Amino acid sequence: MVNEAFYNQIIAELKSYNATLIAVSKTKSASDILELYHLGQRDFGENYVQELVEKCKQLPEDIRWHFIGHLQSNKVKQIAPFIHLIQSVDSLKLLKEINKQALANNLIMNILLQYYSASEETKFGLDDNEIEQVASIYFKESTLKNIRICGVMGMATNTDNKEQITKEFTNIFTVLSSLKDGYFKEADYFNVCSMGMSDDYQIALKAGSTMIRIGRKLFGERTS
Ligand SMILES: *Cc1c(COP(=O)(O)O)cnc(C)c1O
Repeated sequence: MVNEAFYNQIIAELKSYNATLIAVSKTKSASDILELYHLGQRDFGENYVQELVEKCKQLPEDIRWHFIGHLQSNKVKQIAPFIHLIQSVDSLKLLKEINKQALANNLIMNILLQYYSASEETKFGLDDNEIEQVASIYFKESTLKNIRICGVMGMATNTDNKEQITKEFTNIFTVLSSLKDGYFKEADYFNVCSMGMSDDYQIALKAGSTMIRIGRKLFGERTS
């Protein structure tokens, strides 16, 4: 069961921020996804390759699928033909494999670099030095032509401390801005700041988020 009242509320809230809602549907059924789809939602986020591939087959073709979980290089092939945005790129090795599979499918793949900010939620992501390094290699290596880096994805620590969360989101936004100034000045596509989940999305929006990823508040608690 989808929380329709919350969906309507968040769509209204997002208007003034000009931000996009990603409905995070991991562990939720195809019929739950369809329920939200019929309310108008088109962007959905998934964390597991097998689960995503299965759901994609059963659901409407105009859904824009976002990959937000840890992605193993050997699984890129399975999602490359249809994925809209891979938000969780956390290594150069993965970036190179995505480029290879994008080339094989004759497309340009949109990706975000996942920034690691001392979060308890995940041990994955690039730190300040690594993210800078990847951006610089991306520009130097003419071989990564089938990748379009559109911005940064990040998470805040799972805590009730609002000041800490604000600080962490502000830091993610600063990373985006400094990459923009350093490497992507001319690239109008480099503008995505994906941050904010069920418990902290309002703080994220105030700190500059352009894309929030909401699961539990839309679909209910996950049991698995
Ligand atoms: C599960 C997940 C979300 C959604 O979290 P909720 O607390 O259910 O809103 C967002 N981003 C990522 C990367 C996730 O893994």
